[in-house]
Amino acid sequence: AAKAAGRGKHCFYESSMHSEAAERQLLENDLRQAIERGELSVHYQPIVRTAGEEISGFEALVRWQHPTRGAISPAKFIPLAEEAGLIGSIGEWVLTTALQEAAHWPDHVRIAVNLSPLQFNDPGVTQMVSRHLTETGVRAERLELEITEGVFLAEGDTTDETFAKLKQIGVRLSLDDFGTGYSSLGYLKKAPFDKIKIDQSFVRGASSSTNRNAAIIRAIVTLAETLGMDTCAEGVETHDDLQLIRELGVSMVQGYIFGRPSESETARSLANTVTVEADGYQCIREPRQ
Ligand code: C2E
Ligand code: MG
Ligand code: MG
Ligand code: MG
Repeated sequence: AAKAAGRGKHCFYESSMHSEAAERQLLENDLRQAIERGELSVHYQPIVRTAGEEISGFEALVRWQHPTRGAISPAKFIPLAEEAGLIGSIGEWVLTTALQEAAHWPDHVRIAVNLSPLQFNDPGVTQMVSRHLTETGVRAERLELEITEGVFLAEGDTTDETFAKLKQIGVRLSLDDFGTGYSSLGYLKKAPFDKIKIDQSFVRGASSSTNRNAAIIRAIVTLAETLGMDTCAEGVETHDDLQLIRELGVSMVQGYIFGRPSESETARSLANTVTVEADGYQCIREPRQ
């Protein structure tokens, strides 16, 4: 009986392994067709200057509405796209969609687009970005490419060259999720970033947690200022955190307090407002999930 139970367990284990792999394969197949089936969309989240509370720009965030499974988080399907070799086409689709949208905004409003390390390390990346800027008529200075430290882990021969070429065409570069992963100050020395985005894990609840988060944020701000880079705090949800972020001298804020990622129509009308207020936003933003 013990043997039978053991065998049963073994079979169960195997079949669950199998279904996990099968499940991934199914999702990958669906993702492969998601663009042409019109299941992907781009949402836009405001990035607000701490001083004056004016809109600096919006971050483009991809969304996948699966026909039967509903919304699937990019935290889940972007890694899948990277493994399945689909990130190039999905990333390029997001870039051109976001640039087309930004063409409708006032000229001072910027558009931030996430670039996977795999896209960044593609030797044709600068040409690809350049082509979409030309096609959409958006000035290069309005485009911010958000890159994570993953770029340096997958570092190839062309990494330094790519940074130089992207700066040459005039786009801005942001270091996303700073402080997580394998942060090395060497990256900051080497790469010409215009902005450091301080990861949510240091920001959210910083006002009510130990003062360690505040100390870390303060140090990042000092470092960024010395290097001539802007700072953006991600994940600000409360007034207390916003106030702390202000006091610490962070130059920009992105978080639910100023608006969730929203559809293009909403972003378009926000883009045309001059200044915004945290409270004002709370009235028009989507309800909390
Ligand atoms: P990210 O680039 O760091 O984007 C910020 C994430 O934080 C977004 O999650 C945004 O909705 C969320 N966020 C912003 N403010 C708040 C807040 O106040 N509270 C909370 N709880 N969350 C907030 P999202 O849209 O789910 O995206 C997750 C990640 O997926 C992104 O992190 C990025 O790494 C990746 N991603 C999204 N779109 C793209 C894309 O087009 N290309 C690539 N390569 N990656 C993407
Ligand atoms: Mg980002
Ligand atoms: Mg981030
Ligand atoms: Mg992130």
